[in-house]
Amino acid sequence: MLEDVRALLILQDRDRRLMALAKDLERLPQDEARAKTKLAGDEAAVAKAKEAIVEAELRLKRLEIDTGTRNTTIQRLKTQQFETRKNEEYQALGHEITRYEKEIDDLETKELELMEELDQLRAKHADAQKALARTQGLVDEDLAMIAQRRERTEAERIEVSAEREKLLPGVSEDMLPLYQRLMRTKDGLAVVPMKDGKCEGCHMKVIASTIMKVHTAKEICQCENCGRILYDAD
Ligand SMILES: [Zn+2]
Repeated sequence: MLEDVRALLILQDRDRRLMALAKDLERLPQDEARAKTKLAGDEAAVAKAKEAIVEAELRLKRLEIDTGTRNTTIQRLKTQQFETRKNEEYQALGHEITRYEKEIDDLETKELELMEELDQLRAKHADAQKALARTQGLVDEDLAMIAQRRERTEAERIEVSAEREKLLPGVSEDMLPLYQRLMRTKDGLAVVPMKDGKCEGCHMKVIASTIMKVHTAKEICQCENCGRILYDAD
């Protein structure tokens, strides 16, 4: 193989590694975002459970107020009953008091039911919080792994960049512009093997004189079809 081509081939290897590493780094923010979306469902479940508790607590508060007003009314009726001298009025007040007491009974039954419901809602909320904490743990692990990957990839990129810099002086200055142009326009593949008379870049057969030139390896040969630099793989 021509020395100049060999140097380009090694340079290309480092350039391709750098391209792959850059692609890996570009993907990391998406991976992070995807990891975080795993929390959304559990967060919504916690919020919903909390909302149900607040709503039930409000209902309980209203029941307590209703009971309170009835108690006040009963006190007032009892005072009236104590002050009246008419037997009829005394009895009417007594009926009213009984009616309010019955209402308070019903309200207290509802309060007890609601308190049981609240216990269940609080347990549900606690379960949802536990599930969220578990998921958060998993997400944190994912994020830590992504952070490690970023560190490793960046370190490797610095290392390969340094290797590349060292290779540059060994590359023929005349060939560098052609190589760089091909890297840009030919999917990051400028130097390819010729195998069985075919260019491995575009997979087209090359003409006989090109095959000869590649075999003798005296000068730089390019594929007539795609322009990539060829070397003999056979
Ligand atoms: Zn080709």
